[in-house]
Amino acid sequence: MNMRYRRLGTSGLQVSELSLGSWLTFGKQIDDATAEALMKVAYDNGINFFDNAEIYSRGESKRVMGRILRKMEWPRDTWILSSKVFFGAGGKLPTQVGLHRKHVVEACHAALARLQVEYLDLFFCHRPDPETPIAETVWTMHQLIMQGKVMYWGTSEWSSEEIAKAHAIAEKHHLIAPVVEQPQYNMFHREKVEKELAPLYSTIGLGTTIWSPLASGVLSGKHTLEGDASSRMRMAGLDWLRERELTEARVKKVKEVKEVADSLDLSLPVFALAWCLKNPNVSTVILGASRTAQLEENLKAVDAQDVITPDVMTRIDAMLAR
Ligand code: NDP
Repeated sequence: MNMRYRRLGTSGLQVSELSLGSWLTFGKQIDDATAEALMKVAYDNGINFFDNAEIYSRGESKRVMGRILRKMEWPRDTWILSSKVFFGAGGKLPTQVGLHRKHVVEACHAALARLQVEYLDLFFCHRPDPETPIAETVWTMHQLIMQGKVMYWGTSEWSSEEIAKAHAIAEKHHLIAPVVEQPQYNMFHREKVEKELAPLYSTIGLGTTIWSPLASGVLSGKHTLEGDASSRMRMAGLDWLRERELTEARVKKVKEVKEVADSLDLSLPVFALAWCLKNPNVSTVILGASRTAQLEENLKAVDAQDVITPDVMTRIDAMLAR
């Protein structure tokens, strides 16, 4: 497998087609040695983007990733690192969450300290904040970029109107606009990426770093309705996730999709990830993994794109629409 790279929207930054995230895994589900092994497999296979956020394990995910990056001593110009701001790192006071200038700046400083880096390559607004004018956030992100603490900024799960508004404000005041949105995208969750954001790809050149490409593992095909015992679906406090992702209708649909994957000699997770990559508006598919064998398998998605023909895509469309 040779990793391939795509431009992050119309920015000049080239991100690997597959990237590695740390939600629920780093500092929580897996030990630090497994996190290190995952990052090493990723990096050795050409993955250049590691995704993180202030809320992941309440800051612990970043500490773990920071220690690994320091230990590995990979040159700083060979990897792209993100963090996100909005939910806070545990504290829920109004000063500790949201997208107002105080929290965005403090979250950036906390991210730099936990990750042990001088700058973030990508800094995402993890959700829209109805309590803060978008202009305040745009100015703050611009200032962080001017200070050299952030390279590019983006949004996650913002509406197309909110993203367009941020752009209009940036344009009016000659500020740096967001270049990327981080939306959920997988076979079960298509609307936002394929319809809602569609006008923004050509007009403002939006890139996308898509999350939960396997619907939290449901599209690996390993789950019964109760959830595989060793998986996140059985982790304490994640009943909401199991109820959202692991429905009877989905388990049934997964079996149908697997038949198509089988006919192409692809495993189901590899097929489901390659299906995401077939969308040219996806800049990178952020993988999650709790063990290295999963990641090694998922890396095959890069080559698997080539065997998924337009006919196969049409068959899947029909299957998912039923
Ligand atoms: P996926 O939907 O791909 O789920 C990953 C999980 O699926 C793994 O941790 C593992 O879970 C299981 N899995 C993966 N590969 C295989 C395989 N080959 N065979 C069997 N099981 C497999 O992605 P995530 O939901 O983890 O999201 C990816 C990243 O996206 C996150 O780490 C985070 O960085 C980002 N994200 C961003 C969000 C946002 O709001 N911006 C929200 C959510 C995620 P298990 O241990 O259960 O087996």
